[in-house]
Amino acid sequence: MAIINGTLLAAKIKTEQANVISRYQKSHGSVPSLVIILVGDDLASLSYVRGKVRAAEEIGMEVRLIHLATTISQAELLAEIQKHNQNEKVDGIIVQLPLPEHIDPDTILESIAIRKDVDGFHPHNVARLWLSEPCVQPCTPKGIMRLLHEIQIPIEGANVVVVGRGNIVGKPIAKLLLDANATVTIAHSKSKNLAEITRRADILVTAVGKRNTIKSEMIKEGAVVIDVGINRDPIDGKLYGDADFENVSRKASFITPVPGGVGPMTICMLLENTIESYEKKINKNFLLK
Ligand code: NDP
Repeated sequence: MAIINGTLLAAKIKTEQANVISRYQKSHGSVPSLVIILVGDDLASLSYVRGKVRAAEEIGMEVRLIHLATTISQAELLAEIQKHNQNEKVDGIIVQLPLPEHIDPDTILESIAIRKDVDGFHPHNVARLWLSEPCVQPCTPKGIMRLLHEIQIPIEGANVVVVGRGNIVGKPIAKLLLDANATVTIAHSKSKNLAEITRRADILVTAVGKRNTIKSEMIKEGAVVIDVGINRDPIDGKLYGDADFENVSRKASFITPVPGGVGPMTICMLLENTIESYEKKINKNFLLK
């Protein structure tokens, strides 16, 4: 069994990204710019956005964290986003979810300019993903595809089971794997005989958010296990994935740990999407000249 070191791979990719950015600084006198909007004081969200800010700073990207009070109205938040939509210097805008209850997340996500939608959550990008057209891919699924590519896991013809059908991970990773010619099954909370389904997987992706959903008897010997789940234990305060790591890892050929697996890759792909958005801008400006 091998543990897939997402932290190490992300560090390698970030070194390459830092080089790319420093080249743009020299050639164009500018660098990609990311705006992160956080509403309220949810502790998990705060820690996620701090990780994103740190990673962006590390590679020399321009990053601004805009921290707004929970009481902000939807109209005020829309106006804030509009400001950054109109600022040509800004290449990426993300609004950290979840939002307070009085704000409709769909309205907010749809208000982000399509070029700047570096989370890939705008319906335009979601539709294009499902049509297999060029689009901004959401960061976690994109990161998983990169992990699988790096460790040279054959995807074509593989039986893949995705547990979880959320919009952020489950559904889009299933589509990307389908595009890579895997035979994909999506399981969820209403699936019958989950263990029977998961045991067929050459590659098992779990994005549920419940600790110990995947036990060792639920996987095939030699399966590749990609654990996206993030579950904080209320007693020891530590993070755990969806899989019973100790036992599942004995049977798997490869497994991502939590933390240190998919998480760092997600952030890395956010940076990548922002760099790609910047590149679209400078290429367009170049063509217009
Ligand atoms: P969602 O709530 O959108 O989706 C969870 C899915 O799990 C649902 O489809 C649900 O089924 C399914 N589910 C729930 N219980 C079971 C069960 N017992 N058996 C099988 N399926 C079940 O969550 P997200 O997709 O947003 O997130 C999932 C996890 O991934 C969370 O822990 C989240 O923190 C983590 N995450 C990690 C990221 C990273 O970078 N590492 C990024 C994003 C998320 P149903 O549809 O029937 O309700």
